[in-house]
Amino acid sequence: MNEKLRNVPGLERNGSAHPRGTVYVASRLVPDASTVFSPGALAVEDGVVVAAGPLADVEREAPARFDRVDLPGLAILPGLVNAHAHLSIPRLADRDGARALSPPPFVEWILRVVAWKRNASPGEFATNVEAASREAVSNGTTGVGEIAGPDVAAYARCPLRAKVFVEGIGFHPEVAGTVVSSVEEAVARIDAFSRAGGRVAPGISPHTLYTVGFALLQDLARLAARLDLPLALHLAESPAEMEFLASGGGEVATRLYPAVGKDVSSFRGIGGSIPSYLRSAGILREGLILVHNVHLSRGDTDDLRAGGATFVLCPRSNAAHQNGTPDVTHFVDAGIPFALGTDSLGSVSSLSMWEEMRAAAGIYRGGLSGEDLCRSLFRAATENGARVLGLPSGTLAAGAPADFVAIGDPGRGPGGWSFSRMVERVEDGDVRLTVIAGEPEHERP
Ligand SMILES: [Zn+2]
Repeated sequence: MNEKLRNVPGLERNGSAHPRGTVYVASRLVPDASTVFSPGALAVEDGVVVAAGPLADVEREAPARFDRVDLPGLAILPGLVNAHAHLSIPRLADRDGARALSPPPFVEWILRVVAWKRNASPGEFATNVEAASREAVSNGTTGVGEIAGPDVAAYARCPLRAKVFVEGIGFHPEVAGTVVSSVEEAVARIDAFSRAGGRVAPGISPHTLYTVGFALLQDLARLAARLDLPLALHLAESPAEMEFLASGGGEVATRLYPAVGKDVSSFRGIGGSIPSYLRSAGILREGLILVHNVHLSRGDTDDLRAGGATFVLCPRSNAAHQNGTPDVTHFVDAGIPFALGTDSLGSVSSLSMWEEMRAAAGIYRGGLSGEDLCRSLFRAATENGARVLGLPSGTLAAGAPADFVAIGDPGRGPGGWSFSRMVERVEDGDVRLTVIAGEPEHERP
């Protein structure tokens, strides 16, 4: 048994001296958003689930030599997947050094991030990634869609199973070649971490349609196709972005670009719908992950989905920057398999996916029952997140990676288990154990 677990008070154990496998026995097992077993168990060997289901079945299927860890009063769930984060961006202070109580409006905030990035010390990015990863793991997150910061080496020992998207930024066509070369170089470095047994794999992120010009968008799409990598694009996040894409005007043109000393006065907008623009750049295809999607019409959303794109919603970040509200109602009711992401600590107060699920629940206006809505949001925060990112985790079944959490069972007591009770009640502090690839990465007595 893992030495770390041996020391957890309250985790009762008995077993052989040198087991290779472990059976985790809990009062409940929730292997996916459709299934609950009470009591349930999970058998794990070499970082992989070998059996998951009712306790009696798993006891029968798991080899007798397996160790046993009893988790009384806890529920085992798939690890949560935060499909959009920037782990290198810290909680940003105000100009006077005080912690900002709430993030400023969007363009102002972007300028603050630009200034922070310029002035950050070289070691700061790695320190932030380390701290934010630990915070995410402690609240039950096992997978993440990360937009890489400037220091790619920070991801070499990331405890999270992560798709790390290397960001490309450049609006003018003449910079496209240089940007693509540096993106390709960073992708190769992340790929090397993966080959060396790390938990991260690369992706590519054209930052946004207002910071990546058509030429660079095309080039990054070609690079992703050649390397067979997913692409993450911030899209339709703010009213300022939509105004710039429509006409070339607004705050992006009048505040953002002048502040960074760049002239975009010749730009007059993308000249059509977002789906047709993405299509013409060759980027609308399977593997394209669209993040935010606050200001898309339902027709555009459906069109993008038909083109192969997938979606990540970040409702807390959108609210914090007064950017509006993603159309959770349409995504849920139309059965569009969206994922959820927190965005960075510069925008939101925590990397809690529990809070993100609650924020999404709070803006749903459709006709589903609370229980069906919460199943849908739990699926978004687990299975869909993994699928969108191309991670093999997200559900607990034989053959899946042993990425799971044990939480204080929200179904204890009168009322019993329900997905809505879980989404409503679970706090970060209820996460008692987080296991990634079979390794306990967080324990809370
Ligand atoms: Zn973002």
